[in-house]
Amino acid sequence: MRLIDTAYIDGAFVPVTGEEELQIINPANERTIGSLRVASREDARRAIAVAHRAQEGLAKTAKAERLDMLTSLQDAILRRSDDIRDVTIEEYGAPVSRARWISRYASDCFGYAAEALRDYDFERRIGDATVRMEPVGVSALIAPWNAVSGTICSKLASALAGGCATVIKPSELSGLQSQVVAEALHGAGLPAGTFNIVNGRGKDVGDELSTNPDVARISFTGSTATGKIIARAAAETIKRVGLSLSGKSATIIMEDADLATAVPMALDGGFQNNGQACIAGTRILVPADRLNDVYALVRPAMARLKVGLPSDPNTAIGPLASAAQYERIQRFIARGLEQGAKLLAGGLGKPYGLDTGFFVKPTVFAEVSNDMDIAREEIFGPVLSIIPFRDEEDAIRIANDSAYGLEAYVYSIDPHRARCVADRLHTGSVLINQIAPDLRAPFGGVKQSGIGREFGHFGLEAFLEAKSIAGHYT
Ligand code: ADP
Repeated sequence: MRLIDTAYIDGAFVPVTGEEELQIINPANERTIGSLRVASREDARRAIAVAHRAQEGLAKTAKAERLDMLTSLQDAILRRSDDIRDVTIEEYGAPVSRARWISRYASDCFGYAAEALRDYDFERRIGDATVRMEPVGVSALIAPWNAVSGTICSKLASALAGGCATVIKPSELSGLQSQVVAEALHGAGLPAGTFNIVNGRGKDVGDELSTNPDVARISFTGSTATGKIIARAAAETIKRVGLSLSGKSATIIMEDADLATAVPMALDGGFQNNGQACIAGTRILVPADRLNDVYALVRPAMARLKVGLPSDPNTAIGPLASAAQYERIQRFIARGLEQGAKLLAGGLGKPYGLDTGFFVKPTVFAEVSNDMDIAREEIFGPVLSIIPFRDEEDAIRIANDSAYGLEAYVYSIDPHRARCVADRLHTGSVLINQIAPDLRAPFGGVKQSGIGREFGHFGLEAFLEAKSIAGHYT
């Protein structure tokens, strides 16, 4: 049992002043493994004031100093990578391979930010002006509970590359993971105040970060609903906002695709992170005349998919993160059935032999039409919909018929055709015959999936603001 009752402010772990205590539950067995005393609005204010003081010094740092800081942070995370992996399994329920991926992402992102920074030109001439790229200022980094370690580190890496002091607010549902990451980052020995970590509720800590005049920018990852609240709150002081929000990504399996390769990959892309991923490809678009061939591949693949304890290396799908998540997924499966979708695999209730823990049956619906709720709303669990299409035009139309536009996946053996389809999809990114994005390429959404881009060069630039200086001397 661990009690987490500190925030990381001004280079030290200090007691939080909040009173509420949240139980931390292991989602695989529902045992209480710790508790988090949530930070208060007052704690957030202190952290912002500290970051504000650190900002001036940080803005003056040379590229070489920032590169050194990024390297120190990367090394510090690497030293604790096994702990980050283990706590990701224990608190979040990620299967071993996924937990290892999240831990690696948490360290790799500092390397990617350093790569972008090394090549970045902070001053250039445009016409008669010198354009100087300056840090935007104190930045609030707000993260959700899925892949929290990676998200925190990735945002911190870009902010620091841009010379911005930060206040990080992880999800209050990831107290242990955030604490281990905080301890690891502390080990890097950066100047006090450069980054601060305050774990509290959205309604007070999150709200303070969204409204405090000393915060210049918010980088948020989470649901579209919360993103709208933050954008509204931030408008009052005209903060810059970067929002990475929900998705309802389409996977288009083209007529010419090799189904034996495409179908297993489409399932992997849909079930990644136990389905708790904004980029999950949850709408699988299949040519109408190949539906039966696809079903014939989906059924045995689903029978082989191992749902089990996240610590078991053979497990592909672990428990969902919380009881609330379990209930949410049950509601969506029930709605899919009500609206007439047919179950190809999975369904309501818990998988056989897994009565304790927030386990759900990975579910694939067939005969889904794109206007059903399961095809329109982000479910955030292992529930996929197979939607038939007539031809390429129809596939593109269905894929684009969504309030969201985060990721899209295309399977085809014809590079030219796949590229033509990719060009017409309204999403922030498209992956062709692959499910793993390059974490140096820009990431973000169009439509209600967000504003702005993260990672690499674009992630760095999001923390900068252009100032043009023009002069005349005679
Ligand atoms: P989830 O409900 O799945 O955690 P959210 O999008 O609500 O997804 O949460 C993502 C992050 O946003 C969390 O750190 C959460 O505490 C924070 N958050 C929630 N509400 C607010 C708010 N009103 N202002 C700022 N942050 C918030």
